[in-house]
Amino acid sequence: MSARTVTILGATGSVGRSTLDLIERNRDDFDIVALTARKDIDGLIELATRFRPKRAVIGDPGHYDRLKEALAGTGVEAAAGEEAIAEAAGAGAEWTMAAIVGTAGLKPVMRALEAGGTLALANKEALVSAGALMTKVSAAHGATLLPVDSEHNAIFQCFDRARPGSVRRVILTASGGPFRCRSREAMRAVTPAEAVAHPNWSMGAKISVDSATLMNKGLELIEAFHLFPVEADALDVVVHPQSVIHSLVEYVDGSVLAQLGAPDMRIPIAYTLAWPDRMATPCARLDLVAIRTLDFEEPDLVRFPALALARAALSQGGAKPAILNAANEIAVASFLESRLGFLDIATVAGDVLARYEPDAPASIDEVLEIDREARRLAAEVAGKYRI
Ligand code: NAD
Ligand code: MG
Repeated sequence: MSARTVTILGATGSVGRSTLDLIERNRDDFDIVALTARKDIDGLIELATRFRPKRAVIGDPGHYDRLKEALAGTGVEAAAGEEAIAEAAGAGAEWTMAAIVGTAGLKPVMRALEAGGTLALANKEALVSAGALMTKVSAAHGATLLPVDSEHNAIFQCFDRARPGSVRRVILTASGGPFRCRSREAMRAVTPAEAVAHPNWSMGAKISVDSATLMNKGLELIEAFHLFPVEADALDVVVHPQSVIHSLVEYVDGSVLAQLGAPDMRIPIAYTLAWPDRMATPCARLDLVAIRTLDFEEPDLVRFPALALARAALSQGGAKPAILNAANEIAVASFLESRLGFLDIATVAGDVLARYEPDAPASIDEVLEIDREARRLAAEVAGKYRI
């Protein structure tokens, strides 16, 4: 069998590197078309030298000369800029990993879908902001959208897509994050370092903060709504601190199917790389006897209001999910720079969500326009709470 062509958008990040780890272990099965990154030039040069893609693209054009120089004589073409990333995404790889963080990934994701291949989607913010448009374009171009997010990958493995009417409920599990047992008062002064230290998963900074506020689970509710044929009120969240059950699907007869595994993103990534087959991974095997107990709790919407905000944005629909996502991105970035308190992340997101009421976006350009305005408003609101 000939090697499969693959592209990794966001190659230097946590999901990007996990993807390349699997590819490296099965080197002959994959032919890398492009690797992209935003500004981690050293990381990109190292990966490009090791994996020899056809093209390496750095988002920040200021790094172009260094990239070109470092790759001279390797046969790897260097490119730079936002448009070059989108171009690489649309270059027609059979399989593309969308692992850029934030709505910055939306244009490249759309280009990859328009090219009609398989898109392994980790970049949940793109789907939250433009879910309806993305799924429409995906269908129109015959693309295959495979969820990488561990919960959605679990649901994908358990959901009988031929009989959607037989599904009664979809239950997303949440670890509860590092502050699961803290009072709101105790959360007030948490630092970025504490928020990023997730108990079960090793991930990029933005999603780690989202896991600490539970905004991540809220974004995932919206993500699930677009990925699976279910009503919003058939989507539930349960806190499960061990992160062993990655999500569950309940059928009308009372049967509940779940996917379990070690909390290692290489498992869902491998599923999307091999789908519809399976591939071996080096991941730890599940030792149920060692785990002994699985716990479950109701999510606390008072201590974690971000989850309630996302629920509201999902039920209001239209532009609201895009607004929530954009405001959250700004608030999280401010928190990571120690300019905003942890509890103010949800306050800023809620404030922007309440006061910005544009019409539902009918195109990606309109989504991006709403995204820009929501970011502007969020920066303004965050300024008021500045620490
Ligand atoms: P990360 O911060 O570790 O990596 C992000 C990658 O995107 C980097 O390669 C970076 O260079 C690139 N990037 C960032 N901003 C960019 C921009 N403006 N333009 C172009 N490229 C840009 O993030 P991550 O943890 O790997 O997460 C990536 C995505 O996957 C996020 O949407 C996240 O929510 C989702 N996700 C991650 C995990 C996980 O375990 N890390 C799990 C589920 C879903
Ligand atoms: Mg997840």
